[in-house]
Amino acid sequence: MTGSNLLVDVKLSNGKTIQVQTGLFINNEFVVGDYTLDTVNPATGEVITAVQAADTPKVDEAVDAAENAYQTVWKDTLPTERQRLMLRLADLIERDAEELAQIETLDNGKPFTNSKFVDVPALLGTLRYYAGFADKLYGKLINTQVGTSLVDREPYGVCAGILPWNFPLSMLGWKLGPALVTGNVIIIKTSEITPLSALKVAALAKEAGFAPGVIQIITGYGKTAGTALSRHMRVSKLAFTGSTMVGREIMKASADTNLKKVTLELGGKSPNIIFNDADIDQAVKFAHRGIYYNQGQICCAGSRIYVQEGVYDQFVKGLQAAATTGKSGDPFDLTTMHGPLVSQMQFDRVMDYIESGKAEGAHVHTGGKRVGDKGYFIEPTIFTDVKPEMKIVKEEIFGPVAVVTKFKDEDDVVRLANDTVYGLASAVFTKDIDRALTVAKRIQAGTVWVNGYNLLENETPFGGYGQSGIGRENGEMGLDNYLQYKTIKINLNVKL
Ligand code: NAD
Ligand code: MG
Repeated sequence: MTGSNLLVDVKLSNGKTIQVQTGLFINNEFVVGDYTLDTVNPATGEVITAVQAADTPKVDEAVDAAENAYQTVWKDTLPTERQRLMLRLADLIERDAEELAQIETLDNGKPFTNSKFVDVPALLGTLRYYAGFADKLYGKLINTQVGTSLVDREPYGVCAGILPWNFPLSMLGWKLGPALVTGNVIIIKTSEITPLSALKVAALAKEAGFAPGVIQIITGYGKTAGTALSRHMRVSKLAFTGSTMVGREIMKASADTNLKKVTLELGGKSPNIIFNDADIDQAVKFAHRGIYYNQGQICCAGSRIYVQEGVYDQFVKGLQAAATTGKSGDPFDLTTMHGPLVSQMQFDRVMDYIESGKAEGAHVHTGGKRVGDKGYFIEPTIFTDVKPEMKIVKEEIFGPVAVVTKFKDEDDVVRLANDTVYGLASAVFTKDIDRALTVAKRIQAGTVWVNGYNLLENETPFGGYGQSGIGRENGEMGLDNYLQYKTIKINLNVKL
């Protein structure tokens, strides 16, 4: 079974039939794997299809192909040609945006409007953004006592990216963009929960004209494909996005093997702070987006909301109204705002957290229940009367659950906001510029939004303080992850 046999027809809830690719994409071919796994439609709980998955043999095969591609083709491909290919891929993604969005919604459950108008544009936007750097990557020349030093920047060669299930397409862009433009080849391991959309991108990469082995897409469980990649002696750099727990495993794997360079983009429990003088209407809308967008399955979700005493009642009322207005249901229905959680496991995790919140004495202000009787839908939930030591305040829930706390003043809220092992994101809502900047400087987090939330852009670095990760993705800084410095020192002055 190869090639077209791995293309499977799937019927969508809107009556349309689409084809999905189920092979591993190795050396520009879709191939049979070491085993298969089932991927599920979270809106129904039904299996969509079996997909091919990798263990060590197929990972080795991909690494062989990657090495070959790097040595024989990509290393010597002109930057402008790399750029042309990346832009061509972005154009093809744009051409097939509808189909890609359908696949993403089917496999992940996120509303189709989000897949089509946010995730697909994010992927092609990141490719275009990074393609622009192709002919703008320079080294440095430093004159010293010894003479002249040329500081060059070189690719690592074979890189890998391990992706989560919450944003399969945009996270693909975050890895492909900087890796390819800097002259690396890359093997992507998608989440076993959402393997399908990246395989469509793989077909487009082939159509765009990327040589075999430059971009390879495999899936498989963390314990098989993930471990094989993270422990591989010939993978030189690994970018991971996912849970803090697995991030630790990735670091250990690197330490135990070849000390591959690792960047980690992990979890969070991000504070969203609303002061008395904020534009409350905007604060409510952004807080809603901050915690309920993508069903709360976002690493930077504004899951801890802190509201100053003077506007607490008004804010909570507004958030409750917003939380209960958006429609949950079939993600292909264009009026749906909230899709299902991604899997039975994630549904159970989130429901367990909701139960733990109740058991610890927090008040379910809104939501807290399952929606419908099939699929993994949970109501947008607000907890009030929470205490800093509660599990729902301390731990990342990764679901549509906000915990809201009242605060007195700036010192009070900065202390509460920083009371976390994480440090991915945060926000402050106020009209006072001094306060906005002061609080932004005092918060221990990689991103602080002022009067906004979940506003992510290609141009600016993103990543975590503390246990939210190591390194930064996006922006010019994101290139650094894929380049190593080489100093060529020319001795002009020292004679022995
Ligand atoms: P995860 O960290 O378990 O998985 C992320 C990726 O790592 C997947 O591709 C998985 O197959 C792979 N993986 C798992 N174990 C591995 C191992 N030992 N070695 C190498 N790779 C391995 O995340 P998940 O199961 O998808 O979700 C669990 C929790 O992680 C969520 O509830 C949430 O708290 C968090 N999460 C965070 C993000 C984020 O963007 N920061 C994304 C997804 C999940
Ligand atoms: Mg799925």
